[in-house]
Amino acid sequence: MQTIKKDIRSLTKEQIREFFVMQGDKAFRGNQVYEWLWSKGAHSFDDMTNISKETRILLEQHFVINHIQVDTMQHSNDGTIKNAVRLHDGLIVESVLIPTNTRTTACVSSQVGCSLDCNFCATARLKRMRNLAPDEIYDQVVAIDQESRLYHNRPLSNIVFMGMGEPLMNYPNVMKAIEKITSDEGLGMSPKRITVSTSGVSKMIKKMADDEVKFKLAVSLHSAIEETRNKIMPFTKSFPLPELREALEYWYRKTKSKITYEYVVWKGINDDKKAIDALVKFCKYVPCKVNIIEYNPIDDGEFQQADPTVIDAYITALNNAGIVAKVRRSRGKDIDAACGQLANKS
Ligand code: SAH
Repeated sequence: MQTIKKDIRSLTKEQIREFFVMQGDKAFRGNQVYEWLWSKGAHSFDDMTNISKETRILLEQHFVINHIQVDTMQHSNDGTIKNAVRLHDGLIVESVLIPTNTRTTACVSSQVGCSLDCNFCATARLKRMRNLAPDEIYDQVVAIDQESRLYHNRPLSNIVFMGMGEPLMNYPNVMKAIEKITSDEGLGMSPKRITVSTSGVSKMIKKMADDEVKFKLAVSLHSAIEETRNKIMPFTKSFPLPELREALEYWYRKTKSKITYEYVVWKGINDDKKAIDALVKFCKYVPCKVNIIEYNPIDDGEFQQADPTVIDAYITALNNAGIVAKVRRSRGKDIDAACGQLANKS
């Protein structure tokens, strides 16, 4: 019977050290291998040039390295790059490199497909196949860091968990990936440059606060009126706004970290005064800022971007209430790389 070999990157450094001790080797060998796996990004045991041939064969017999493969890269005319990433079991997720004058941001996926059902999002139409493993999330970041160095002559500066999936429905793996991204044994990035975006899974927001995480939180709000929110994001019936508010207040008490609300304004859905007033009121509960995201049409026209005058009305109302609000232009629309467009089309 063939046994399924374990992904060596699911082991901690200590477990790899123990493996070598069990094999009658030195624990130190584990440190070397660990460094190859994480800091040096080895794709195969053969890459580990300062490890003896016998040891590499031994590793081969016991483990695999489930490294991702960038299957295709699409370049937008605004400099955005979209990677279609093939996982070890053949499934595909997408990640995006978004360059500006001063920074490069990686937008990474946390699930294959998505657990949620936002009516305006193309990813939501894909079934959730599975959660990504920590190393599969980490590898997406490494791939974009390399592309940033290659195409923009600078390292990656920021990471947003705004690709496919709901990160808080894959919380343990997202946390492990962030630990690696921020640790000196991984990429050594500051957690302040990482933003995790959620549709508002209240109990997990509280859990993150309890875990005293140091990264930033964004919430896809889109409406501060329960009935409207339930209609466009049906799963939110399980996460009502008063509960979300309470979780966000808890988050701020514990972390003192401002929240970003993501908000799209659609014709006939949230483009009236009532919707604006509700958002302004909601924004007063916890220190925050608002990013108004341009709507990226995904198909039949059920959702349409609201008139620019309404967007202006939102910005004015928020600013008058002392809340910072900005309009975020979409990037990479021509290659279906913008918010809500990730759907493995190619
Ligand atoms: N599940 C998480 C992570 C995805 S982030 C979350 O919902 O926050 C992707 C962001 O793009 C979310 O704010 C989402 O609401 C928004 N979005 C989805 N579809 C969109 C579309 N068609 N146009 C613009 N933004 C969209």
